Amino acid sequence: MLTLSRYSLGVGDRFAHQAEAQLRASIIAAEQGVTVVPVWNKSNREHLTIGSEPESVRLAADAAVRALGWSAPYHVDADHIRLDTVGRFIASSDFYTIDVADSIGKPSSTEAIEAFLTAHPELAGDVVIAGIERPLHLTRELVAEIASKYLAAVVEAAEIYQPIAAAIGSEKLIAEISMDETDSPQTPPELLVILAAIADQGVPIQTIAPKFTGRFNKGVDYVGDVAQFKKEFADDIAVIAYAVEKYGLPSNLKLSVHSGSDKFSIYGPIREILEATGAGLHVKTAGTTWLEELIGLAEAGGEGLALAQTVYVKALAKSDELCAPYASVIDIDISALPSAEEVYAWSSEQYVGALRHDQSNPLYNPSFRQLLHVGYKVAAQLGDKYLDLLVENREIVARNVTDNLYNRHLVRIFPGLNPVAGEKL
Ligand SMILES: [Zn+2]
Repeated sequence: MLTLSRYSLGVGDRFAHQAEAQLRASIIAAEQGVTVVPVWNKSNREHLTIGSEPESVRLAADAAVRALGWSAPYHVDADHIRLDTVGRFIASSDFYTIDVADSIGKPSSTEAIEAFLTAHPELAGDVVIAGIERPLHLTRELVAEIASKYLAAVVEAAEIYQPIAAAIGSEKLIAEISMDETDSPQTPPELLVILAAIADQGVPIQTIAPKFTGRFNKGVDYVGDVAQFKKEFADDIAVIAYAVEKYGLPSNLKLSVHSGSDKFSIYGPIREILEATGAGLHVKTAGTTWLEELIGLAEAGGEGLALAQTVYVKALAKSDELCAPYASVIDIDISALPSAEEVYAWSSEQYVGALRHDQSNPLYNPSFRQLLHVGYKVAAQLGDKYLDLLVENREIVARNVTDNLYNRHLVRIFPGLNPVAGEKL
C-alpha cells in the first residue's frame, strides 16, 4: 500500500525549474532528523494557464530526486482534479486531490439520507471524542442536515476515485478529498459526518482538506481569529483519530491545509498541536515558489530586475483578467498597488522588499505580492525570455526558493527543526 508519510509538503513548481531547490528544503530537514516528504502539485488550472502537461511535473520531480539522491518517498499530485479533468493526470500521478467543493449543497435523495441515518445511529446524540473537552452534540435532525449538505459531494468523490483506482490500482495511489474551495468552513461535527460517509463509500483517503475558519489568501498571511482556528484545528485532528478507529479509515489519515504557504500566524499553533498530539499534516503550497523566482531575478539586478519589473507592469495592466479566477482567495487593495512608473524606477532592494514575505520590512506590500502571485500567466507568456533568465540566475533563485520553503515554512510548521543560515542553504 502506497502510504503517505506523517509530514508532507506540497510544492508547486509552475515553470518546472525549481524542483531541486524545493527538494533541498526537505533534505535540510532530513539532515536534522525530520522527514518531510515533498509532493509536487500542479492543478489543471495551472497547466492550462502555463500550457504545460502533467507529465512535465513527474519528469522534473524524478530528475531532482535523482540529482540530489533523495531516498525517502516523494509524490506527484494531480491537484484539484474532477471527473472531467482527471484523465490526463493518470499516467504521471500517484497522489490525487479529489476536489468536490462545487458539489457541497447539491441535493441527495431522501432515501440516500435515510439510509445514511439508519447506518449511523451512533452519530445522533452525544459523541465522546478523546481530545475534545465536551462531547459533540449531534441530533438526528442535525446529522440529516449535514448529510443533505455533503452526501452528494462524498458520493461524487467516490465516482472520481473509482476509475483512478481501477486504472492504476488502489494500493498504488494516495487519495485526498478536498472541500476547501467553498465559502463556509466545515465544523468538526460536519467533518465527523463527512468522514463516516467517506468510509461508507469506500474511499481510503489518507488526507482530507476541509475549509478552515478564516481567510487563506494566496501567498499572504492568515486573516482570522487565530485562537478559534487553533481550537478547530485541534478538534479536527481529534475527530480524524476517532473516525479512523470507528470507521476503519487508513490509520495515517491526516489533515491537509490548502493555500497553506505564508500563513505564518497560524504556524506556531499548528506546530504546538502536532507536537502535543503526534498527528501528521500535509501542507500544500504552490505559488510561493514562483514569487521566489521573481525575488531572485530582482535581487540579481540588471536584466533580471528589468524582467521582474516588466512582469509586474504587465500584470498591473491586466489585473482584472488575472484576478478573476482567484477572486475568492485574494484581497488586493488597488490603492496600495504602485504605478508602472514607480516600479520601473525601483532598485533591487525596493522590489525585493515589497515582494518578499517579511512582515517586519516596511517595504513589504501584500497587495503587490498577491497581484504577482496570480500573475504567473504573464511570465508564461514571456516564454523563453523568462526561462532563460531563470537558468542564468539559477543559484540566486534557488537560494531564495530553498530559504523560503525551509526557513519560513518547514521550520515554523513541523516540530524538531532549526533555522539554517542563508549561506548554508
Ligand atoms: Zn485547495
